[in-house]
Amino acid sequence: MESTAWLTDYDAAILPIRLCAFAPWRLGVKFFASDTMNKERKLIIAGNWKMNKTVAEALDLVRGLKLELANIKEVDVVVCPTFTALGALSKEILDSSLRLGAQNMSEHNFGAFTGEIAAGMLKEFSVRYVILGHSERRQYQKETDELISKKGLAAHAASLKPIVCVGETLAEREGGKTEQVLETQIKGSLAGFSKDQMPETVVAYEPVWAIGTGKTATTAQAQETHAFIRGLLTKMFDETVARKVRIQYGGSVKPSNARELMSQPDVDGALVGGASLEVRSFSDIIKNSI
Ligand code: PEP
Repeated sequence: MESTAWLTDYDAAILPIRLCAFAPWRLGVKFFASDTMNKERKLIIAGNWKMNKTVAEALDLVRGLKLELANIKEVDVVVCPTFTALGALSKEILDSSLRLGAQNMSEHNFGAFTGEIAAGMLKEFSVRYVILGHSERRQYQKETDELISKKGLAAHAASLKPIVCVGETLAEREGGKTEQVLETQIKGSLAGFSKDQMPETVVAYEPVWAIGTGKTATTAQAQETHAFIRGLLTKMFDETVARKVRIQYGGSVKPSNARELMSQPDVDGALVGGASLEVRSFSDIIKNSI
């Protein structure tokens, strides 16, 4: 064929490749990819690794997450390792969008508090978030709402974002006391927080009966409780503030239930325990949530 013809030999040879570029399944993928959830607030999904992983294991996990989640922009992804892994992970996440969280901190800035860690020390490792008042700490370390509020205020003073955990026990839910318990915990744990600090505060609703048990709140239970919490925040602060606060759900979140939970209008992310310990399950939770 002449080079002046509308289709050269070269064009004819690569035509199938060009057609593939516009193939219907490509359009399908594009359509599917744009079918993301339209959330009012950016999702925040945090992995609470609890007392698991050596430094080497923590590095392996984060390296895997970096590969799996390299293109995820729709979710703030936070990993909360043990204190001993923070130094190594702070370097490893530098070239990624992963953020570091701690699992606890002291309400004090320094001094004779053996075994404690201050907010300023966490900041040295680029920690951005800190989980406060997890039900395990409320149960085993007898942490009170008053203490959690002091820690939260110390976190804010150091520009750390607290993830404040609340949640009822099974007996409290079955006794019809869920809202009463949550109101007490939220008013106490957020006591003294200013309106300006609230958008930088995350509330994690974690029904104690759903943590590590494999039992998940139904989507209806989660939405109803999250809406109750947002209503409470509206009364404590105002509607504009309440609409900015991200409320995570926690309690046996896994890849199979993440999408349905995250589709609820007042569910703005997840605090994940067991399923955050493996690259596959944690990254699938994140991918299934968008
Ligand atoms: C947690 O401990 O915060 C938690 C939600 O754990 P799991 O996901 O294992 O239930």
